[in-house]
Amino acid sequence: MDISTQPTGPAHECHCVLHEPPASLADWSAADHRMVGDIAASGWQVLRTDDATAGPGWAFTVGLWHSYGLPELTMSGPVDVDLDGWLDTAARLARRRLTTLRPDAPITGVVDGVELRAKAVHPAWYAPLFGAMTWFAQQPPLPMLQLVWPDADRRYPWDLDAGVTDHTDQAQLWLAPEAHPEGVWRRRAFGSFGD
Ligand SMILES: [Zn+2]
Repeated sequence: MDISTQPTGPAHECHCVLHEPPASLADWSAADHRMVGDIAASGWQVLRTDDATAGPGWAFTVGLWHSYGLPELTMSGPVDVDLDGWLDTAARLARRRLTTLRPDAPITGVVDGVELRAKAVHPAWYAPLFGAMTWFAQQPPLPMLQLVWPDADRRYPWDLDAGVTDHTDQAQLWLAPEAHPEGVWRRRAFGSFGD
């Protein structure tokens, strides 16, 4: 793919590989070319990471900032819920201005009967959990929101006692890593960081 001929997004500060292509694409893999081509063609990609043997998974968008000046999005939770489908729905709603993506905003219309909350992701989580996103973006600015869902009693993680680690299997990425409860998310992102 000749990325120099690809259309770019509207005028907002973006230093991604489409706006500012590297001098050489020699070290790009086939998957890299495919992802960049898909973002140029359709606006964004949703990537999903599951590890069925190790517990919860997570999904995230790449391209919303480049294409529309919207924050990138992430959700996390059990492997059997539709994280990537929900993110795709949220991105479509935001693209059509049917929902507003800003920190602490309620987000409806994504998960049936559920009010999600958008929380700004602490940038220390970007590289360890969202490598494809930071690779594509190359450098800031790169706003990102986690769409957080409540448990069956409509409680969000911040409604529970500090230190709870198993709330619907979600990461709590609005927290700085050192303030995040110990457990699977800190181990995944940082190995034995702080434990
Ligand atoms: Zn860009």
